[in-house]
Amino acid sequence: MPTRPKQVEVAVAMPVFGTYTYQVPPALEGLVEAGKRVLVPFGSRRITGYVLGEDSRDTADTLRPIDDVIDDDTPVFPAEMIPFFRWIADYYIHPIGEVISDALPGGINPSEYAVFSPTARGRRALEENTLAAAEHKVLARLTEKACRWAALCKNAGEDIPRSLLEKMRRQGLIEKQHKLQRQTVRTKTERWAALTDTSADESGLSEPKARIIKHLRAHGQTPVAALKKIVPTAAAHVRDLAKKEIVCIVEQEVYRDPFGDPVTPDTPPRLTGEQQRVVREAAEAVTSGFCTYLLAGVTGSGKTEVYMHIAAHALEHNRTALVLVPEIALISEIERRFRARFGARVAVLHSGLSAGERFDQWMRIARGESPVVIGARSAVFAPLTQPGVIIVDEEHDTSYKQEGRLHYNARDMAVVRAKLADGAVVLGSATPSVQSVYNVAAGKFRELNLTRRIHRQAMPEVSVVDLRQHRGAKGARRFITPPLKEEIRATLGRGEQVLLFLNRRGFASYPVCAQCGEALKCRHCDITLTLHKKANIYKCHMCGYFRAAVSKCDTCGSASIKQLGTGTEKLEDAVATLFPEARVARMDKDTINRRGALLKILKNLREQKIDILVGTQMVAKGHDFPNITLVGIICADLSLSFPDFRAGEMTFQVLAQVAGRAGRGTAPGKVVLQTYSPNHFAIKAARIQDFMSFYNQEIKFRKALQYPPFARMTQLKISGRDKTKTRQQAEDLGRLCLQIQNSGDPNFKQIQVLGPIESPVTRIAGRYRWQILLKAPEAGSVRKMLNLLRTQNPSAFPGREVHTVIDVDPFFMM
Ligand code: ADP
Ligand code: ZN
Ligand code: ZN
Repeated sequence: MPTRPKQVEVAVAMPVFGTYTYQVPPALEGLVEAGKRVLVPFGSRRITGYVLGEDSRDTADTLRPIDDVIDDDTPVFPAEMIPFFRWIADYYIHPIGEVISDALPGGINPSEYAVFSPTARGRRALEENTLAAAEHKVLARLTEKACRWAALCKNAGEDIPRSLLEKMRRQGLIEKQHKLQRQTVRTKTERWAALTDTSADESGLSEPKARIIKHLRAHGQTPVAALKKIVPTAAAHVRDLAKKEIVCIVEQEVYRDPFGDPVTPDTPPRLTGEQQRVVREAAEAVTSGFCTYLLAGVTGSGKTEVYMHIAAHALEHNRTALVLVPEIALISEIERRFRARFGARVAVLHSGLSAGERFDQWMRIARGESPVVIGARSAVFAPLTQPGVIIVDEEHDTSYKQEGRLHYNARDMAVVRAKLADGAVVLGSATPSVQSVYNVAAGKFRELNLTRRIHRQAMPEVSVVDLRQHRGAKGARRFITPPLKEEIRATLGRGEQVLLFLNRRGFASYPVCAQCGEALKCRHCDITLTLHKKANIYKCHMCGYFRAAVSKCDTCGSASIKQLGTGTEKLEDAVATLFPEARVARMDKDTINRRGALLKILKNLREQKIDILVGTQMVAKGHDFPNITLVGIICADLSLSFPDFRAGEMTFQVLAQVAGRAGRGTAPGKVVLQTYSPNHFAIKAARIQDFMSFYNQEIKFRKALQYPPFARMTQLKISGRDKTKTRQQAEDLGRLCLQIQNSGDPNFKQIQVLGPIESPVTRIAGRYRWQILLKAPEAGSVRKMLNLLRTQNPSAFPGREVHTVIDVDPFFMM
């Protein structure tokens, strides 16, 4: 018998810390269980809450009861995930209700909104014309139609202060009612028809009805929608047949299919000796308990094959498998291979799905129908039970870092989730992160290696071009130097493909006034605009602001703007001019705005309908293009100058990854690496694709400066539209940090409080930005300090006018 808790612990979907206790009314007994969503009264509103389990906390008898249960049969997440959510809330110092609502697929929670309408007194005041102009206007509009505040502003065509409405409410002129907006994404059902008696006979029935019966006899139950393809008026006929009890109709839940073409099943290849050893060791942890493995293997060494074997092992032991892939762009390839191996047992979760598709996939997983899940970073929350293995492919990738409401790192959370589920974690990469390699050295992770490429291709040969010697060059030659041009020509001559990598999109990224030397900047951000020639606009890459490409200098009004700084769009132009015969395509955020566009480029590349592909770091990852034999790196230095301690690591990784794209097939590969700093150790190491030589130098520098992995960092990001208030908030918080530090607790003495300082990018999308960095040898004391900070200044987190976001283990510190 299921337990019937009388009072339950509920996390509410609101920015409030802690959880609440609610009473289960008799009418809902047996329906309320951990992992289900409920509707609860909260203040004067009703909001969504998540049941965390029975609540034994001593509480007053005046507990408020739950209003309703939202989920009928299947909880939206399994109860076993609750400790995971609690861990996240604690570690990232984030309200647990928001952790859960961020984890769930979007658009499923009902939300409440306030509707304003005039009271009798208000109507009278309107008639008697005794009100001030502003109040009068509001009442007049609300008398026409009661509505929400946002709609009122829209109808009035101006910003009506919310405080005015509250004032009028207190005066009894208007009243506020709460309405519930039901969830926008719901299960979709479809009507299916089947014969009640399979020996039914169609004689005596009309021709269309007979056709329907014949079809049902041959194919069994069929969606009515499909029958319409055979008989256009099938719906009416089926209804008739149902009345005669020849046919029965059932509403069945349908899964909107996110997949494209059908995939032909494959048979697993025989593993190489190296692969076998790796699979054997990692598979052991699936059954014997938590362990984290760092699987280091060059591109093409058979990592994906290893992942599939370990996943299969987990399924054999009635466990599930979760595969995280850094970006949607890469999911298509892994998805195809996993589906060829595991068929319909695979579910996918990523932002490329529509809200409805994502919800369907989510519920399939929650019901235990797809034990293998592939997805981007947010799939770390997939409602799987008992994950036996969590695989994080390309574990070094920075896109595992999420910077939404909740800031988290999906790779780190994968390790925690596996630990709580007593499973294995496999972090795979050709260029592992400094953090993970350090964890191997510290004995926290175990290392597994794949040293040879399956098809025994040699690693590509890399030649370096010193851009300093080409400084005087004009036009296209500045970025396609003669040695690179020669290699491109030779490669095209052999009928092979070329990949050109430039980590910057647009046409020109640095438009400068030729008259006064001022750069053209975004109106809302502290960065220069980028010229996008095809779209004929200057665009801000931070906030999306754009203006016409014919714009004049803001400072002196001159129309003469010099276009400095090359982006992929200019590169594409230059390549097309230099090689008019070649078919050139470009792959960056501007050309890939839909999932279909990406798949099309990948397909054209595979079918060799593209000779030269120009792209940003999007091309650096994972894809396997056997006929690409030349990779040109246009300017290796772009990311080195970032004001970030990981700049060297990110540069090494992207260079090594791009270089790894060359020579994946039978023909040997070549890389031409152009750089202004050929002697920088990150570039030298990338040139010989030697991770350890990079790591050994990098780790010394991290140690000397006490950067991670030798210290833990947390950043407070403070932002607001008002320059003075933002600065004030930052200074207040900074002072409070110092106060706490000097409060006598020795743990706080080892924390370094750096700042507050203005962020390197001082303004984004109209918001001024400040930051405080907390650095300490371990994370616990910083967390303690932040919790004190939060309780001593609760209105600052997240804050109204000025926001404060806590970013634990920050990545992008601009
Ligand atoms: P990685 O993920 O390390 O880049 P893959 O798993 O994609 O490597 O393997 C590279 C290629 O070798 C793929 O085409 C894959 O199908 C093939 N492959 C992997 N393992 C084997 C094996 N044991 N026998 C034959 N082919 C294999
Ligand atoms: Zn901007
Ligand atoms: Zn000017």
